[in-house]
Amino acid sequence: MKRKAREDKPVVSQEIMEQAKAAISADRPRPAAKCKVCSAEAAPNSAEGLCWVCRRLKISAWREIEQQMSAQE
Ligand SMILES: [Zn+2]
Repeated sequence: MKRKAREDKPVVSQEIMEQAKAAISADRPRPAAKCKVCSAEAAPNSAEGLCWVCRRLKISAWREIEQQMSAQE
């Protein structure tokens, strides 16, 4: 029983895959930071280390506090 190994070969060669991976990592030098709250991918420009969702929640929480404070005055 003859079986051709040709079918097992990957469509994309290992060399091309490595080059593609290197190009991607060169494109993104910094690894994506993780959100401190939910461990999701943090926003790239977030100094607090928060993802978009947690940033939004935080901002909306601030707004609520501000509204409550201005309502008390
Ligand atoms: Zn988050």
